[in-house]
Amino acid sequence: MKFKVNIVTFVTLTLLLIGWFLNMASIYILFAVAVIYVIINIMGSIKIEWNYFLFSHCKGESSLKEIALTFDDGPHPSVTPDLLKLLAKYNVNATFFCLGKNVESYPEIARSIINNNNIIGNHSYFHSYYFDLLSSSQMEKEITQTNAIIYKNCKIKPKLFRPPYGVTNPMLKKAIEKSGLKSIGWSLRSFDTSKSTELVKKRLKKNTKPGDIVLLHDTVDDAIAIIEDYLIWLKDAGYKIVSLDQLLKIKSYED
Ligand SMILES: [Zn+2]
Repeated sequence: MKFKVNIVTFVTLTLLLIGWFLNMASIYILFAVAVIYVIINIMGSIKIEWNYFLFSHCKGESSLKEIALTFDDGPHPSVTPDLLKLLAKYNVNATFFCLGKNVESYPEIARSIINNNNIIGNHSYFHSYYFDLLSSSQMEKEITQTNAIIYKNCKIKPKLFRPPYGVTNPMLKKAIEKSGLKSIGWSLRSFDTSKSTELVKKRLKKNTKPGDIVLLHDTVDDAIAIIEDYLIWLKDAGYKIVSLDQLLKIKSYED
């Protein structure tokens, strides 16, 4: 998509520049096109589902009532173990996009994610506010470091990467290509880190569609209440929870 936008912008700016030389177009229109181009690029980096800078799997193709649950930013010392118990109680599994530093702090919990038949993905080492400003080699270093920590503790090599904050840019595209991982986005965002528990519960039930990849966090206090309510609703509504690799028909780990 970025390539098409670049071509259209280049052609438009060239024509407007010629028009400006010939006194047929205003410089302000030229300026407006440049501003629109910048806005499109900013939106493209924020909206992972646009696949603007790089392709991310954001939704399953399933026409069946199947969805996959994903939890970011853990493992968390208290929320994640309770969540694992809850998922086991309802006999469902999920994908946990873990931070390298948290796997290092709570290796036992990371192992129990795997031992309870869930998937672990890579979500960078620090998840700093500045991740998107890093160079591609710095990003690649964090991704590789996190995979090494996960391998050391869980004996698996994740192939799935979720960009911190879902922000994508050319540096991340390069880093992901070099590290050989696949970018995973989402189609349903719970906003569980910013909205009230009741609003999150309502939002999930109102917006769930077949094939959804649901973004949640195993770091919020009310995660258990939210997920139990959602699991009960999903069952009543006839939805089946499948693993992310099953929904997307891709591999979670390197052989
Ligand atoms: Zn995150």
